[in-house]
Amino acid sequence: MKKQKGMIITAAVLLAAAAVVTGSRLIRHPEKSSTKKSEVADQENSEKEQDHRTSGTELSEKKQNMNEPDHTQKEQSVENADRTGKSITEEAFYISKIPDDIFEKMQGKSYKADCTVPREDLRYLHVLHMGFDGQTKEGELVVNKAIAEDVLAIFRQLYEAEYPIEKVRLVDEYDADDEASMSDNNSSAFNFRFISHTTTISKHGLGMAVDINTLYNPYVKTVNGKLSIEPANAEAYVDRSGDFPHKIDHDDLCYKLFTRYGFTWGGDWTHSKDYQHFEKD
Ligand SMILES: [Zn+2]
Repeated sequence: MKKQKGMIITAAVLLAAAAVVTGSRLIRHPEKSSTKKSEVADQENSEKEQDHRTSGTELSEKKQNMNEPDHTQKEQSVENADRTGKSITEEAFYISKIPDDIFEKMQGKSYKADCTVPREDLRYLHVLHMGFDGQTKEGELVVNKAIAEDVLAIFRQLYEAEYPIEKVRLVDEYDADDEASMSDNNSSAFNFRFISHTTTISKHGLGMAVDINTLYNPYVKTVNGKLSIEPANAEAYVDRSGDFPHKIDHDDLCYKLFTRYGFTWGGDWTHSKDYQHFEKD
């Protein structure tokens, strides 16, 4: 009995000693692991924050995942290789409801008094694009909410591919004058209007169309036997057989991306040709 008691005591002492050793390890360890944990938590938080801001982008990415696994894989590896640079890019691509100051700016211009498209159906897009000078530029677009995620994803991929787009400004900066915007080679989307002599709202009027590098890719049609070119200063770019920069054709990345997201190209129309124009139903 005594001996047993002694053994129990010895065992207890050993256990206590073990506990002390383990405890000291646990004390040292928790410090280390808590640091690690908080680092991970910070990272997770910043990722979550980023996710929140770019949820629109993410959705589009997911959509694209289904169509094009290879490209997404490549994108992910780029993200891992250059997380910081990438997140700056990600933050610059976002979708928001039309901010008050932008809506103010649109009044009587792209958002005319007779506009039948509710403000809630439109979205403001902030993007980056590669200018003709090889420098990164900021761009703004207003589109229908139905295509906002697609357009954001397309512009992000155009930027990543360093596809040159000269200007992406709201048409309101040209007083919603389409000709002025096009002749300045501005790329834009929403501009409320009815199709001439009808009560049908044009695709741009619905925010369901985007025009890219408009000077190099004019809208060409024959009216009363006469060739009409919009913008008027785009005569040099009417003949599409020649090779010149910024020409949208079937081999062009813009064409490939927009059509991949379900848009149709005005260059494929039969009665007229609108080489700058991509629209969705
Ligand atoms: Zn157009």
